[in-house]
Amino acid sequence: MKLGIVGGGQLGRMMAQAALPLGIKTAFLDPSEDACAADAGKLFCAKYDDETGVSLLSEFSNAITFEFENVPPITVEQLSQHLPTYPPAQALTTARDRWSEKSLFRQLNILTPPLALVDDQESLEAGISDVKYPAVLKTRTLGYDGKGQKVLRTRADVVGAYEELGSVPMILEGFIDFEFEVSCIGVRDQQGRSVFYPISKNEHRNGILYRSEPIQQSVLQSQAESAVKDVMDALDYVGTMAFEFFVQGDKLIANEIAPRVHNSGHWTIEGSVCSQFENHVRAVMNLPLGSTETRGEVAMYNVIGKRPNVQKLLTIPGVHWHDYSKSERIGRKIAHITITATNDEQLKARSEEVESLLVNEL
Ligand code: AMP
Repeated sequence: MKLGIVGGGQLGRMMAQAALPLGIKTAFLDPSEDACAADAGKLFCAKYDDETGVSLLSEFSNAITFEFENVPPITVEQLSQHLPTYPPAQALTTARDRWSEKSLFRQLNILTPPLALVDDQESLEAGISDVKYPAVLKTRTLGYDGKGQKVLRTRADVVGAYEELGSVPMILEGFIDFEFEVSCIGVRDQQGRSVFYPISKNEHRNGILYRSEPIQQSVLQSQAESAVKDVMDALDYVGTMAFEFFVQGDKLIANEIAPRVHNSGHWTIEGSVCSQFENHVRAVMNLPLGSTETRGEVAMYNVIGKRPNVQKLLTIPGVHWHDYSKSERIGRKIAHITITATNDEQLKARSEEVESLLVNEL
């Protein structure tokens, strides 16, 4: 069996690493000659909307998936005409537009921050009178890792804000004074059955994920699972999906979905019976889903910009080093570290040791 993946970054690479033991070979479509997934499968180096590149991927594959949501619609259309292609196009289009995804959450009675649609400076001013300060202005599309956003706290922040973010369609959200952020990763198979991982508590630095750790919190877990399930069912989803939330007391407020494997689920490689990557591959290839049960205590750190001393890192028990073979660059995710432990204190001590070695350049 062969799986074609649109995108050849670390997410594609880890999907390929999970696919191989299942006897599934992978190929990637990526415009970059040094796409890091190429170490794990065949690379068709072409732009995402290049007809020849898309045809080559299609000829190689028995099924297609994506490692990111901003795939040109023409590519999704071309691929899905010939092959099972998951997640479905409607999931990609919904998730890449903040207004569409938030509208879907509201239709499904999933709690969101106060919202307003912004198409110019005038509608921004009107939006502020509904949403109130503080608020966050975000571009509707192409925002990631905190890019394409501005927090508005006073009148002075509003002046010129529409132009500052590029005069493109935007949304205005109420700023949520959250206690912490969580994500819930679910996987849905082709028969409509779903499984869920324990919610992950996520800490960001400079808008980029820094640390994730699964937590046991049954009230939040059941809210999260029901939101992920409702969204996956509404989109007739197949594959792994991540849903990010803000936590206020015992309430979850929806932030966004990612229609793909997600950075906050990297700990599942060593921390779960079946990882988010393996379950994604299983769903797309129409295989039974694996158990999402957690194995012991686990946490994950992102390595951003610069590698730590790997010689020292690997002397820490329970540490697993995942190097994406990417060159060092400020703000770039180049690796991650999973820490496994048998109890909380051990996880905490090992986390402190790992943190003392991290030299993240944000
Ligand atoms: P996003 O790209 O929408 O996930 O935003 C990146 C990060 O900005 C989030 O993980 C939050 O830490 C913060 N953020 C985004 N939207 C809000 C909001 N409405 N209220 C408070 N913080 C936010």
